[in-house]
Amino acid sequence: MKKKKKTKIANMLLRNYVFLYLLMTFIFIVCLIISLYAAINSIKKVENTKLVASNIMKDNYKTIDISNILKVNGFIEIIDKNLNVIYSKGTNPDNKKKYTRQEYHKMLLKNPHNNEYEDNYIYSFAYNKRKDFLLVTAVPAKNLDYLYPKRRKMKLNIILKLVLFFYLTTLILGIRIYSKLTSKNFVAPLKVLLNGVKKITKGDYSTRIKLNSENEFGDLKNAFNLMAHKIEEERMLKKESEDSRRRLIMDISHDLKNPLASIIGYTDLLIKTPNLNHDERIKYLTIIENNSIRTNNLIKDLFELSKFKSTDFNLKLKKGDIYEFLRETIASYIPQMDEKGILYDFEIPEESLYINFDDKNLYRAISNLITNSINYNLKGTTLKMYAKNTSNIVEIIISDNGIGIPKKLVNNIFEPFVRVDSSRNSKLGGTGLGLAITKTLIEKHNGTIALETDLDKGCRFIITLNI
Ligand code: ADP
Repeated sequence: MKKKKKTKIANMLLRNYVFLYLLMTFIFIVCLIISLYAAINSIKKVENTKLVASNIMKDNYKTIDISNILKVNGFIEIIDKNLNVIYSKGTNPDNKKKYTRQEYHKMLLKNPHNNEYEDNYIYSFAYNKRKDFLLVTAVPAKNLDYLYPKRRKMKLNIILKLVLFFYLTTLILGIRIYSKLTSKNFVAPLKVLLNGVKKITKGDYSTRIKLNSENEFGDLKNAFNLMAHKIEEERMLKKESEDSRRRLIMDISHDLKNPLASIIGYTDLLIKTPNLNHDERIKYLTIIENNSIRTNNLIKDLFELSKFKSTDFNLKLKKGDIYEFLRETIASYIPQMDEKGILYDFEIPEESLYINFDDKNLYRAISNLITNSINYNLKGTTLKMYAKNTSNIVEIIISDNGIGIPKKLVNNIFEPFVRVDSSRNSKLGGTGLGLAITKTLIEKHNGTIALETDLDKGCRFIITLNI
């Protein structure tokens, strides 16, 4: 799967901001262009148009282009120096033939930039010096609004106000869209996260957050999911450890119940039957003694196991020759092996190998394996001890070719009270804690222990210790 590019919230905000900025700049420029266009249009001089006398003046007044004037229902007059109207074209309401001097002056004084026209015509004049005539153009003001400066100003005002209104409206709209976009980017993931937190608070630890963000919210989602996963895992572990504690208590009470019941029963019998013969008395006392020893062993092993498992327990590490230690350990069991008819063989290097170990507790760990081999196997079984060092570790293998342990028990045989056959074990006095103690002690040495076995295939315990 292609990895999505990570975007930061800051980048997202910047992107939104740049988008809004560019949009508003564009709108601003459009508004500016419209305003400028309107303004330029409004200040266009009347003289510049084809309606103004000076712009259309020609020596031959008959050839003057008056098409634009006619279009707006205006007219022209050509007045000679005697104030006679010698030529007239267009819709002239007065249709004068001649002007009086007074009328002529009054007409000349009319200002085309002033809109206060009595007769609602806008006039312009141009004098042709060469041909000695005056050209008068007249355009009905109502047909030509823009010739009125005041009206033009009014129109410009309206346009500018409209442009300003449009700009402000789009600005407000843009800001609204920006804040909506931004809040959508923030509020939506926050809601999802909050929902997840609420579910966790209610105890639903299987809650996981689904969020498509690849920004900091995405990181938060991952952190949240990891946290939820950890909590779930911790709770499972807690439950498992509570279950195993409960099981342990049940196992302890079960293992204590039988020998104690037997002790109570036989003590009661001895008290209540005083006329027992010597042999019977010895027989019952032996049973009481054996059960007391068994109870005592169980309590001793339990105490040791919990002591070794405690974080306060520290080994007394000393540098020593591990090979020499292994030779001495197996040698200490030779009389026991001879007595039971167990054959032995050991392959331990002649040289010395000095490592740090707690001799008393390592002896305790290894002797459990040796005594198990002696106790659970039949006469003629061979017990082997093998040791070698490779790079940084020393490997110790204690194996036998005896009855072995069913493969299905390999994974939890190191757990307290796990036994192959409890009836057989109770006869042999095993507490079911030996391998648990061995494993705890080996792990306290930062070592490992593993078992390879199957029924009738013997047992092969492989220990590794760091050099
Ligand atoms: P216990 O104190 O009962 O011996 P352990 O934890 O030492 O308990 O051993 C657990 C069980 O593993 C024993 O009950 C026994 O059935 C089996 N076991 C251990 N070592 C051997 C072995 N070498 N051969 C056969 N069975 C063994």
